[in-house]
Order: sequence, then structure tokens, then C-alpha cells
Amino acid sequence: MRPQQKKRMDIKATRTEWKEYPKGKAGIVFCKTCNAVYYKKAWHHNLRYHKNLREDIAVSFMECPACLAIKNNEYEGKIIINNVPKNITEHLENLVHAFTHRAFQKDPMDRLIAVKKTGARMEITTTENQLAVKLAKKIEDVFKKTVARIAYSHSNKDKAVDIVMEFRA
Ligand SMILES: [Zn+2]
Repeated sequence: MRPQQKKRMDIKATRTEWKEYPKGKAGIVFCKTCNAVYYKKAWHHNLRYHKNLREDIAVSFMECPACLAIKNNEYEGKIIINNVPKNITEHLENLVHAFTHRAFQKDPMDRLIAVKKTGARMEITTTENQLAVKLAKKIEDVFKKTVARIAYSHSNKDKAVDIVMEFRA
């Protein structure tokens, strides 16, 4: 599918049911890589808010979907930013890290996978598609005067969101 041109970002990215994986699994599941905890159909940073756990609750270990996605480099959101001015690169990169870190603090499945810089091109991948959409909006807001063109497409069986942005020369 060819990318569609859009003036403003109005992508609806809703496919997040993978966060419920392993769906319906009883008991508690710990991620062996990041220590996230799966309990009551969702992944949490810890069980602080579930104080009344039964003592005989089943405990198992696996890798959470976010760690698996990072390991297999299976992004769900990708932002490509072209023509990044040298004097903005650091600011932009800090923004990406801070924004995705805040998202991670809210939901352990929302993560930055990687920031790859090749010359004036920056490629950002995230585990979750809505995170990429929100981050792109944030970048658009912060660099309002300089970010020019935005295109997006759904690829990868409509699961992933690919966003392309460009700084004006
Ligand atoms: Zn994990």
C-alpha cells in the first residue's frame, strides 16, 4: 500500500490486543527479561496495586510480548524523519527518549525499540503503534515550524504504522 499524504496526523491505531498475551492465562506470569508481571489480563510493572493475592496462586515465567518484540525487532510503530538538521538532532533524540520513557512508566508494554541515525535520517521504532502515533504528534508540535511533510501507511498486515516526517531544508 502506498503511503497516504495527510496534513495532520489523524491515524487511528487501535490494534493492541497483543498486550493481553498470554490471554486468559491464570495466576501470575513474570517476564524473565524485564520483570514485568502479567496478572488479570494485563502487564504491570509490579503488583503494588494487587495486595490481596492468594498464597496458592500459580506463578510462571515467560518472556513478555514487549521483550519478544524487541528481541525479534518486530516493531509495531515506526517513524522515519528525514532531513534532520544537525543542531536539532540531540534535542529530537532527547525528546524521543523522554517521551517513550514516560509511556513505558505508564504501561510496561509501551517501549522504544531503537533510534537509528544515518546521516540526517532518523528511524525510530516502538513496540506499540499508538505510541508511535503519539510521538509523531509530539514531534510535530515541538518542531511546528520545521517539520513539513507527514505521510503514513499501514503495512505488515495492517498491524504496524509507518510514519514519515521531514524537516524543511
Ligand atoms: Zn519483558
